[in-house]
Amino acid sequence: MNHITVAIDRPAYQRIKQELDERNALLVAVSKTKPIADIQALYDLGHRDFGENYVQEMVAKQKQLPPDIHWHFIGHLQRNKVKEIAPFVHLIQSVDSLKLLSEIHKQAVKYSRTIAVLLQVHIAREETKFGLDEEELKEIMYSHSGFPNVEIKGLMGMASLTADRNVIREEFHRLRVLYDQFSGAGQYPLFSALSMGMSSDYLIALNEGATMVRIGSLLFGARERQ
Ligand SMILES: *Cc1c(COP(=O)(O)O)cnc(C)c1O
Repeated sequence: MNHITVAIDRPAYQRIKQELDERNALLVAVSKTKPIADIQALYDLGHRDFGENYVQEMVAKQKQLPPDIHWHFIGHLQRNKVKEIAPFVHLIQSVDSLKLLSEIHKQAVKYSRTIAVLLQVHIAREETKFGLDEEELKEIMYSHSGFPNVEIKGLMGMASLTADRNVIREEFHRLRVLYDQFSGAGQYPLFSALSMGMSSDYLIALNEGATMVRIGSLLFGARERQ
């Protein structure tokens, strides 16, 4: 045995990676609150997709880590902060208003790039979680053509914080049905990502059709803050 403390759970990573590969799903390693060395350790195993939920933290980490990392923004995003991540962000998973989408487009134009996004849908019972309701989602889907520099790639959602697996399954299922309304419509050829599932519920999410899961604590250990 070696005596070097490795802060990432390598066997968990290999196991989860295999479960996801079997279903062609993407693992986003949620590295929020975790140090650079932990991200680098997972990077050294070949991992490239990492998720953060605070702008300052993501910007600071991006500067110190290899440039080929795909940075996923998964937290609530304020419009005045978009410009800070616009030059490098790979996928903004948490778009929850047309105004935010419009600002992302503006910054994408400024940096001469296209920014990929997911629309975050509110599926949980808790009022506190962010996200669009079904009507707001449809409104954005039918009016986003004015933003050629953003690509709406799919949907993201978080299930309720509950031990009741049936509630979680039902919420993910609802998101899947919404997703299918657009992914099957032909009108949205870019629609290919359904991001749902975290450490405690990713297997349920995969069974309900997730193409992308966001996992933190199973890989990096528990955190003090969310
Ligand atoms: C923190 C976070 C995750 C990961 O949570 P874990 O329970 O640690 O896997 C996933 N998605 C979002 C939006 C998060 O904020």
